[in-house]
Amino acid sequence: MNLQFDWKMVDCHNVIARIKGSELPDEWVIRGNHHDAWVNGANDPISGMVAVMEEARAVGELMKTGWKPKRTIIYCAWDGEEPSLIGSTEWAEHHAMELQEKAVAYINSDSNGRGFLYAAGSHTLETMVNEIAKDVTDPQTGVSVFERGKSAAAVNASSAKAKKEILGRQITPIGALGSGSDYTPFIQHLGIPSLNLGFGGENGGGEYHSIYDSYDHYKRFKDPTLEYGVALAKVAGRTTLRLVNAEKLPFDFKAFHKTVSGYFNEVTALLENMRESTEIENKMIDDKRYVYAADPTEKMLPPNKKDAVPYLNFSTLQNALLRLEKASGQFSDLSATNSKPTNPTQFNQASYRAEQQLLSATGLPRRPWFKHTIYAPGFYTGYGVKTLPGIREAIEQRNWKEAQEQIEIAANAIDNYSGKVEGLNKLLVK
Ligand SMILES: [Zn+2]
Repeated sequence: MNLQFDWKMVDCHNVIARIKGSELPDEWVIRGNHHDAWVNGANDPISGMVAVMEEARAVGELMKTGWKPKRTIIYCAWDGEEPSLIGSTEWAEHHAMELQEKAVAYINSDSNGRGFLYAAGSHTLETMVNEIAKDVTDPQTGVSVFERGKSAAAVNASSAKAKKEILGRQITPIGALGSGSDYTPFIQHLGIPSLNLGFGGENGGGEYHSIYDSYDHYKRFKDPTLEYGVALAKVAGRTTLRLVNAEKLPFDFKAFHKTVSGYFNEVTALLENMRESTEIENKMIDDKRYVYAADPTEKMLPPNKKDAVPYLNFSTLQNALLRLEKASGQFSDLSATNSKPTNPTQFNQASYRAEQQLLSATGLPRRPWFKHTIYAPGFYTGYGVKTLPGIREAIEQRNWKEAQEQIEIAANAIDNYSGKVEGLNKLLVK
């Protein structure tokens, strides 16, 4: 194969449009998608970019009728996403302090096509995303995008138990964000509540990042009627407008606690499974099981023994999760009975800034730019997410000392976060 590259430096252009909030101009809801592509880019990124443009156009129409957004809306068309999120990263780093003060949330989309709603992001926004998914109609079936996604999940589930659990759900869990699009600098570097929204699953593939990602291909195979572009604009447009005009921002800390407890169970189970498999593997090596099992005419060597898996001390993390459980439970109870905080501005600002408590000052080991203690792209998984990444990856790499250090860092972050939720509760008490 003969490959040729063009290494010339070129300028990047982000396009940023701002509609100033009429009541709370210093609270920003940011909605973005990238506009650069490897070649033609009909699917990646334009199928998502047109939804942002349609949302902005619709808001423009609303404004002609005299409507004004309460908070500021910022629409972003990022450049340089493909060569490593350059446009959004430079913008987020350049405005870091102002964003941490003012950004209520960042709502991202990217490629989009026929199929099911996929949502991932900060779990404090999970409840709101579900409410919106119940309000938007799927173009092909006429049921809500929530019911369509739930139906597919139940049909594809492997066991009767799983099917029953899915059918009983009022909430479809949203995913966790790794990387691969422009939400990364917002959530993982700055701790701004973020979402990534898009439809897919019935839109084929194979053209990704190639010259075949053309409008012709898109119209034939990805979303022939372009109705899923409209569906994305409806979901992301509602998300933006609900956040922009909410009297009380719809963050749900209980949903976040539930999710992080699940991650905690996963990492403790990971450690226990490693302990069990290390013990049995080491015994099999001692007892020459690999030697006896091998074909003697082939040259085979048994694996090396591994160091025993120690017990780690999770108590600070357990205590932090307990504090979060209490604080977030109280938050839900108070929110159910009293939706009006005593000081709405203080309440809302503290709500959207809470996620920053989950950042660690030193960042993740060997990659300090990634600061979120709950969500990160894996060190070895490319775009793929690792939750409780510091702890999980240290265990996976059998770095026990680092695992213990990361437990303390995550516990400390969650503890500080719970302190913020307790502060919100005080503002909800009459
Ligand atoms: Zn893209």
